[in-house]
Amino acid sequence: MKYETVIGLETHAQLLTASKMFCSCSTKFGNRPNTNICPICTGQPGVLPVVNKKAIELAIKTALVLNCQIAPQSIFARKNYFYPDLPKNYQVSQYELPLAINGYLEIVVNGERRKIGITRVHLEEDAGKLVHKGAARIMGSSESLVDYNRTGTPLMEIVTEPDIRSPLEAKVFMETLQHLLQFIQVCDAKMEEGSLRCDGNISIRPLGATKLGTKTEVKNMNTFRGIQKALEAEEVRHREVIAAGEKIMQETRYFDEITETTKAMRSKEEAHDYRYFPEPDLVPLEPEADWVESIKLNIGELPEQKKSRYIAALGLSAEDAEVLLATPALAKYFEACLELKAPAKAAANWLIGDITAYLNEHEKTITEINFLPAQLAEMLEMIENGAISGKIAKIVLTEALAIGKEIKEIVKEKGLTQVSDEGELVKIIKEVIANNPGPVTQYRQGKTGIIGFLVGQVMKATQGRANPRLVNQLLGKELSKN
Ligand SMILES: [Zn+2]
Repeated sequence: MKYETVIGLETHAQLLTASKMFCSCSTKFGNRPNTNICPICTGQPGVLPVVNKKAIELAIKTALVLNCQIAPQSIFARKNYFYPDLPKNYQVSQYELPLAINGYLEIVVNGERRKIGITRVHLEEDAGKLVHKGAARIMGSSESLVDYNRTGTPLMEIVTEPDIRSPLEAKVFMETLQHLLQFIQVCDAKMEEGSLRCDGNISIRPLGATKLGTKTEVKNMNTFRGIQKALEAEEVRHREVIAAGEKIMQETRYFDEITETTKAMRSKEEAHDYRYFPEPDLVPLEPEADWVESIKLNIGELPEQKKSRYIAALGLSAEDAEVLLATPALAKYFEACLELKAPAKAAANWLIGDITAYLNEHEKTITEINFLPAQLAEMLEMIENGAISGKIAKIVLTEALAIGKEIKEIVKEKGLTQVSDEGELVKIIKEVIANNPGPVTQYRQGKTGIIGFLVGQVMKATQGRANPRLVNQLLGKELSKN
């Protein structure tokens, strides 16, 4: 019998807000443990939560981009469970009435477009962080420490329909989602830092069946590669269990990155285990239509729209447009250059070429360098008006990237201004003609391609500073004299 794989993903994204979901504590990462805390996020008796408006705005923005319907009313609920990372013994989440429902995200897998349904987008708060001494997990550690700095950080949960049909599709879905969240600036979406996390629900069923098979939930998928590997391992396990005539147990499993297998963690909890009930301290969320509309208007261009514009209006190749858009910060940098009237194609070429090479070599991002869009725009202007050649620009750029100085200053300091003075160039050209009688004769006998060699000699004599267009012109003129 042929089987198909059915996967649904639950993604948690940390929202880019300055303060927590229900209190004014900072969400800053990396502070001393238990310093970003207050009576509200540590669940002291008698406190009252207040909803973070920015978190709602960012979640609505995401839901709109994911083509969801925004619920006219949604309700916060208490999800009850006991664990040391949860000081209140419940997590405020949304259960029956989430913020948004019924959306989709389009992905492209092996050249084929796939529409993955989004069941819901809802808001909740994060738990604290447990640090287990001497081991990665609580098992085998000598003691465990609790850091509540993360407790109460706004989280957005995005749940897909069971529309994903392979571990590869799951990986592509997460990559596409990450890119989108970064693009619309709702989440920095770094899987390795945990600001974007995902769990997968997987089952298999006979091909053509409509009823879902028994699913397992896979946790601890911390990288894109991990998502694919974990789900592949679980897919194989399901097939083997069923082929052996046994039944899949509904349970939660975790992915062991070292053995690349999944291991049973606990039997899967049912929703009623959490004894959800409406949070009595928070009123229902009813975002005004005008507000939702203004959020929609401020979303701006999405990657697909930008790509079309880069190609149609700016004349970039599809490839170049994709490279720029793959990193939202690079696209932003590029657009800042355009605002400064930099020529689009040249700006794209330098960004994708020399600047990206520098970033890769130094393991930096475009936001971490001292070379600003204004400097690139200035450099491009100097190339355009003939003040420096493209070749010299490479030298200047290397210097500017290394020390972050102004382009004009570097050019001046190093005496790199392009030689566009005709008199000076003619003098050098005459010397080159006198010193290279062989090639000159060949040229005059009709082998005009040799002019490239002579141009090279002039460039060499000027240490690359001669204006190549002018050299070509003047050299042609001089060679036609006898
Ligand atoms: Zn707090």
